[in-house]
Amino acid sequence: MIDKISRQDCVGCKACGDICPVGAITYDTDKEGFWFPKIKKDLCVGCGLCDTTCPVLECHYASSENYRDPKVYKVYHKDKEIRYNSTSGALYYGLADAFLKNGGYIVGCVYDDDWKGAHHMISSTCDGLKKIMRTKYFQSDTEGIYKQVKNLLDSGKKVLFCGAPCQVSALYGYVGKEYENLYTLDFICLGINSPLVFRKFIEELEKKYNSEVTEVHLKNKSRGWPNLGTMVRFQNGRKYYGNKITDPWVNSYVSMRIHIRRSCANCRYKSFPRIADISMGDFWGLKYTAEEEKYGVSVALVNSRKGEELLKNGADNFVMEERTLGEAIKGNPMIEGRVKIHSGREEFFKRIEDEPFSKVVWSMKGSNKSKRLMETIKSSVKTVIKRR
Ligand SMILES: Cc1cc2nc3c(=O)[nH]c(=O)nc-3n(C[C@H](O)[C@H](O)[C@H](O)COP(=O)(O)OP(=O)(O)OC[C@H]3O[C@@H](n4cnc5c(N)ncnc54)[C@H](O)[C@@H]3O)c2cc1C
Repeated sequence: MIDKISRQDCVGCKACGDICPVGAITYDTDKEGFWFPKIKKDLCVGCGLCDTTCPVLECHYASSENYRDPKVYKVYHKDKEIRYNSTSGALYYGLADAFLKNGGYIVGCVYDDDWKGAHHMISSTCDGLKKIMRTKYFQSDTEGIYKQVKNLLDSGKKVLFCGAPCQVSALYGYVGKEYENLYTLDFICLGINSPLVFRKFIEELEKKYNSEVTEVHLKNKSRGWPNLGTMVRFQNGRKYYGNKITDPWVNSYVSMRIHIRRSCANCRYKSFPRIADISMGDFWGLKYTAEEEKYGVSVALVNSRKGEELLKNGADNFVMEERTLGEAIKGNPMIEGRVKIHSGREEFFKRIEDEPFSKVVWSMKGSNKSKRLMETIKSSVKTVIKRR
């Protein structure tokens, strides 16, 4: 039974609930905002399907033939607007768009209607793709999605599933055999954040701006891709913009790493071969042109024959160049590295129960407004010097 997996290890993929034939598995959300399976012992028939599906008990791959040494490409979409609206270089959009045009279905993460959470959904349209594109840097709720994907596969439809490596591994565990019509994408993953903390961040902004949110764009590029901008629009027409220096969400995640799921410290999906057919990420660490710095550049790790097929089918959408795995890892150590649990984690989660999220972040980081202003000035000067 799945309850033998500790809370330090459970990745929250929710595949166990999907596979349970008697509905004996539901979920509890802990005080950090992460969900964990809960078994109704009186319903459980001991079939063991939850165990064989679980990606923690066994790492499931796209194929037993996934490459130990993936092919690596620097990629970006030819359309600047699509690229601007994506997170990295719009590798996802280009692959998904080509897949839809070939009659396939795409499965990925969308914001909930109130912009304070996220879940996975299936689409066969360009409108659906526009919702699925853009990265949401907190855990997506995948309850029910594995079952729906398997139904599509069994009816002969081609499916392109995108998710965190653990979610992709969960899908392979769920479907239980190799489907020629299943294609997958995962991403280089620093670690997955607490949905509760993201909700608190947005709720605090709604209070401050005295209006409901109508759009969230994480890694907004209005002031450049490496600036890690966060843009939020409100119903009253106002707009919030913060960046890697001024935004509490980005600071709590990227520099403090204080509310990442505990199981990410022990991630087993980072070695080679990787889980999915293609792994996507930012191609950090290269020397960029001004245009690349504004619009972003993706890295594609092509991990399988199907990955090669996907990239070939999307190739007309992209500017592409083959690079080395060493270059990708140098700029992006999280391809292999695991996040460490922040020593102030307990304090952080205790304090955000009563204090505003941003106040807790800045006080625990030892940062105040004037310090952030100085950092902003220094960073702007550096950018000007670099561009000369
Ligand atoms: C939590 C997290 C951590 C990451 N850490 C790194 C990192 O350390 N280094 C790095 O290079 N790249 C990292 N990435 C990947 C990177 O940020 C981009 O997602 C990736 O480069 C794709 O960008 P894009 O422009 O091609 O596509 P986008 O348009 O951003 O499309 C993203 C795709 O990812 C899926 N997706 C979005 N949010 C989620 C989510 N919360 N859960 C599951 N699936 C989701 C969507 O369904 C969509 O299919 C991370 C992504 C996430 C979600």
